[in-house]
This record gives sequence, C-alpha cells and structure tokens, in this order.
Amino acid sequence: MSKPRVAIFDFACCEGCQLQIVNLEEEILDLIGAVDVVEWREAMSEQSEEYDIAIIEGSITRPEDEERIKDIRSKAKVLIAIGACATTGGLNKLKNNFDDLEEVKKCVYSDASTMPHLETAMTKAVDEVVTVDYKVHGCPIEKAEFGSIIRSLLLGKAPEIPDYPVCVECKKNENVCRWEYGEICLGPIIRAGCGAKCPTASYRCFGCRGYVDDPNVNAAVDVMDKYGLTVDQLKSKMVLFGSKQGPTL
Ligand code: SF4
Ligand code: SF4
Ligand code: SF4
Repeated sequence: MSKPRVAIFDFACCEGCQLQIVNLEEEILDLIGAVDVVEWREAMSEQSEEYDIAIIEGSITRPEDEERIKDIRSKAKVLIAIGACATTGGLNKLKNNFDDLEEVKKCVYSDASTMPHLETAMTKAVDEVVTVDYKVHGCPIEKAEFGSIIRSLLLGKAPEIPDYPVCVECKKNENVCRWEYGEICLGPIIRAGCGAKCPTASYRCFGCRGYVDDPNVNAAVDVMDKYGLTVDQLKSKMVLFGSKQGPTL
C-alpha cells in the first residue's frame, strides 16, 4: 500500500509551528517513515502538485492567499490547519482592529507607496476561506499533540482534540489560580490541550489555543464579579489572540 503523500504549506506566520514539527526530533523519523513528504519549503526544495494531506500554517492575509488556499484544498483529501495563525487568525487578526488597511501598511512599511506590490487584506483563519478537517491549536502548536493527531489519522482514527477549558488541566496541576494574584486569566473560556502551560509557569492564560466551542461566558463574568473586575477588563485581555472573534460578553 502506498504511503499518504503529505505537503506542508505556510502563509502569513512566523513559521514557529513548523519549527515545532522539526523539534519532534526522534519521533519525526517515525512519522516521516509512515508518510511520503512531497513538499515542505522549510525542509526540502522539491515541490508537488499531488498530495493527500495538506498541512497549513499561517493566516490568509492577502487576496492571492485566498486563491492559493483554495487551490491547495482542491487537491488535498485532508486539510489540517496548524497553529493559531491558521486555526483562528491568531496574532495576525490584530490588523482587523483597524478600519483603514492603508494605515496598517503605513505603520508597517512607512512609505507603502514605494512598495505597491505589498497587498494586504483583513486577516482570515483558514476555515474562513476553505473547509478545514482538523485543527492543531496553539502558538506554537504542542509537539506531542501534533504527533498524536497525525498518528491517529494514519491509523484511521478520529483525533482527540480537547473541547474543555484550560482550567481543567490547571486544576489537575494543583496551581493556585492566577485570579488570586489579581491577574485576568482566560483559562475558563480557552481550549485545553497545552497542559495549562502558562498558569503552571505562574503566568495567566492569554488565549493562544482559541475558545472552546461553547465557552461558558456566564461563568467567566461571574468570576469577574467575584474579583471585583469589569467585563471590559476581561475583553481587553481577549484582544491579543481573539480580535474580532470569540464569545459576545
Ligand atoms: S501560531 Fe504562533 S508560533 Fe505558529 S506560526 Fe503563528 S505566530 Fe508562529
Ligand atoms: S489560573 Fe487560569 S486556568 Fe488556572 S484555574 Fe485560574 S482561571 Fe483557570
Ligand atoms: S495556558 Fe493559554 S496561553 Fe498558555 S499555552 Fe495554554 S492556551 Fe496558550
């Protein structure tokens, strides 16, 4: 039986999630042995028009990106979005807080008129343009979770992707809640799967894995009340990874 052909593509991103794949070290040899990697700009020069699984890193931020991702989707049987940039739009959605994209270009490139080829558009997550079959969340992705999702797919099993909040993992780690230190932690509404990495390292969760499918907004508001904080203060913490998306508060 032929091995599934895998192609890895990047759009607007820092390529940190691809680096996490490279960082799988010994495990990557097992995974690569089970598939036929036909395109991966970060690791090889070959390109291919034929693949079964497309792994997508990065956000859709330019008109030509939409055409490219549609073309990739039309060729792939399975499409996996990896990392916050691809799964939610991630940090790149900060741009969407500006109504005037010329202002954004000016801020980034100073005199944008000297670089008319640098187009920009409102940032979209991959699933705002094409159908995404599976998402690997985080900024960056968790290496172990990526490996587990790929292994499940190769075995023909549906991958297990947590749909409960970071607080569950945080409580298991027996952390003192960051709220007790006066910090606004997004754990109650953010998808678990990172092992509550930030609270365990004495920092609030800032939401890199995106919201759970059905966030318990009322509970989050209750927690704000309990600690004498306002909903606006909570919303201000949701901007970094949740601009123009997420639950209505
Ligand atoms: S999700 Fe984070 S680590 Fe991954 S590519 Fe985007 S910015 Fe980089
Ligand atoms: S620190 Fe954050 S993740 Fe942990 S229990 Fe408190 S709110 Fe939840
Ligand atoms: S604790 Fe929150 S911000 Fe930190 S890695 Fe997990 S989801 Fe991301």
